[in-house]
Amino acid sequence: MANHPPDAADHSPHGNGLDAASAPLETPQAGAAAAVPGSLAGEPGVKPLEQLRAEQRALRTATLHSQAILDNIFDGVITINVQGQIESCNRAACALFGYTADEVLGRNVAMLMPEPQRSHHDGYLRHFQQSGEARMMGKPRDVEGLRKDGQLFAMSLSVSQIQGADYPCFIGVVRDITLPRLREEEIRRLAFYDPLTELPNRRLLLDRLKQAMTSSCRTLQHGAVMFLDLDHFKQLNDTLGHDVGDVLLQQVAVRLNTCVREIDSVARLGGDEFVVLLENLSSQAHEAAAQAEAIASKILHVLGQTYDLRGRHYDCTASAGIVVFNQDKDSVEELLKKADVAMYQAKSAGRNTACFFDPTMQAAAVARAELEHDLQQGLHQQEFMLHYQPQVDPQGQVVGAEALVRWNHPRRGLVLPAEFLPLAEETGMVLPLGQWVLETACAQLRSWSLHSASAHWTLAVNISPSQFAQPDFVARVKTALRQTGARPQRLKLELTESMLVHDQAEVMARMNAIKACGVGFALDDFGTGYSSLAHLQRLPLEQLKIDPSFVRGVTTDPNAAAVARSIVALGHSLGLAVIAEGVETAARHHFLAALGCDAFQGYYFGRPVPAEVLENLYKKCL
Ligand code: C2E
Ligand code: CA
Ligand code: CA
Repeated sequence: MANHPPDAADHSPHGNGLDAASAPLETPQAGAAAAVPGSLAGEPGVKPLEQLRAEQRALRTATLHSQAILDNIFDGVITINVQGQIESCNRAACALFGYTADEVLGRNVAMLMPEPQRSHHDGYLRHFQQSGEARMMGKPRDVEGLRKDGQLFAMSLSVSQIQGADYPCFIGVVRDITLPRLREEEIRRLAFYDPLTELPNRRLLLDRLKQAMTSSCRTLQHGAVMFLDLDHFKQLNDTLGHDVGDVLLQQVAVRLNTCVREIDSVARLGGDEFVVLLENLSSQAHEAAAQAEAIASKILHVLGQTYDLRGRHYDCTASAGIVVFNQDKDSVEELLKKADVAMYQAKSAGRNTACFFDPTMQAAAVARAELEHDLQQGLHQQEFMLHYQPQVDPQGQVVGAEALVRWNHPRRGLVLPAEFLPLAEETGMVLPLGQWVLETACAQLRSWSLHSASAHWTLAVNISPSQFAQPDFVARVKTALRQTGARPQRLKLELTESMLVHDQAEVMARMNAIKACGVGFALDDFGTGYSSLAHLQRLPLEQLKIDPSFVRGVTTDPNAAAVARSIVALGHSLGLAVIAEGVETAARHHFLAALGCDAFQGYYFGRPVPAEVLENLYKKCL
């Protein structure tokens, strides 16, 4: 409309609508024409009739032309006067609001707006009438429109002011943005929400967390991030399928939302990981922690109620890690990480519980992660090695050795198994490591067999619980023996009592299969665990190892001496040899020898050393 030919705009009067293209000609111009007949053609200032008619025709054509343009454009165009009365309304505008032109022309444009826009609009007009200053001009704004049927819709509106013939008027260009809005919302939904649970996703959570942190700096109130992970969710997924797992996740999402306040957020990070963001907690740290803990307890309680998964009852618990924040320097990712670390703590504390983040815990977690990475690397880079500790008979003659793994760490130097075995066991890395130990030990046995001085030496190899539990463990042992050419009779596998109590039939079958090849078994750390003697009796064992904790006290503590004596007697009555481990002094050696111990191992006879050292030490003596 701003581009209207000046004529059409100038002569465009009030009260005309879509079909009013001819109307303008009847009012002001008609008045002008009426004055003409009385005047003489050729008189100065008086136009000849012909010229006047030609001008009228031109004007009429121009007006029709502009109206046609207006009616054919996609946008709605409405003009109003300074009183707010609608002066024109094109076809698109009529269609948009559901009125005919007649229904709106001359009426106040406020009829097309809902509150509070209507009041705002009245305010703008009043302001204009008083000051002549127009507001909200130019830039399109997103506002709501009111249709004739009462429906509201999203529209974009841009208003400009033009100078009419006698007074200013306003042109509003309106466009329905319902569809683009919906599309925008859909895009936003996909980008920021988890489709399965409709909870905010990680991205939106990070955004909200950032805002929460900023606002907590301002208000000095604490907030908390709670990281939740369902216990044993993988098992459910694996046994009942992902569909059922999804149903559980959806129900968990619903329950979580019932546990938090309006201002809090529940998000799903993926898998069975949820995060609850708590805001506006107390400004006192301990109170904030108590509040967060109360909500966590409620959540764990609610999540712990039985679920109905497509008619199947299912019980599930969750573990929660909480970190409370206030004016933290942490990034949002760091906060989340801390909550995650705390969650792992909750898992290892037995699940179905909540733990708060604490910095020492994090240091341990970081060290763990580093160690895990190094372990993996170490296996690839062949940083592991075996040391061999001699085992001697009552006369002090070497009869064999125990293989003890060492890690030659590039930065930390020689690392003892206590520092890495628990983690290796947890992460499963003990399997490739144990396999390497087995193969290396067998190769060592083969190498000893080639020298007369060491050909009779046995080698004890420690077997970890998960290594022994491998379904193909028997085959692995056989393969290691075959590939290295070691004599099975010289190999002794050290097991612990705890490995023998579960699935006794399977354990027995496995041990018997290995025993059948000639390989022997020693029961390590005997006396520290619990095993039924009846069960022990049935196992194809060869040797009991008295735990160093008893050996240490034999000469000073009558109880330790009594235990050692009983173990020797028990072993012998079961037809087993007994070896004392951790023998550090001559006195203990003599005491144990007097009890009838068959073999000895300990610093008194030799520390664990590399194979060459052991060979050099003992071959010379022999
Ligand atoms: P273990 O099987 O009871 O091994 C004996 C541990 O006692 C060894 O510690 C050894 O160095 C130590 N020791 C030997 N004599 C004495 C002594 O007179 N006094 C004292 N105080 N200690 C003595 P190490 O080598 O640190 O091994 C610790 C544990 O790590 C072993 O206990 C064993 O359970 C495990 N381990 C070691 N090597 C392996 C392996 O290759 N595979 C598996 N699965 N576990 C291993
Ligand atoms: Ca051992
Ligand atoms: Ca031991």
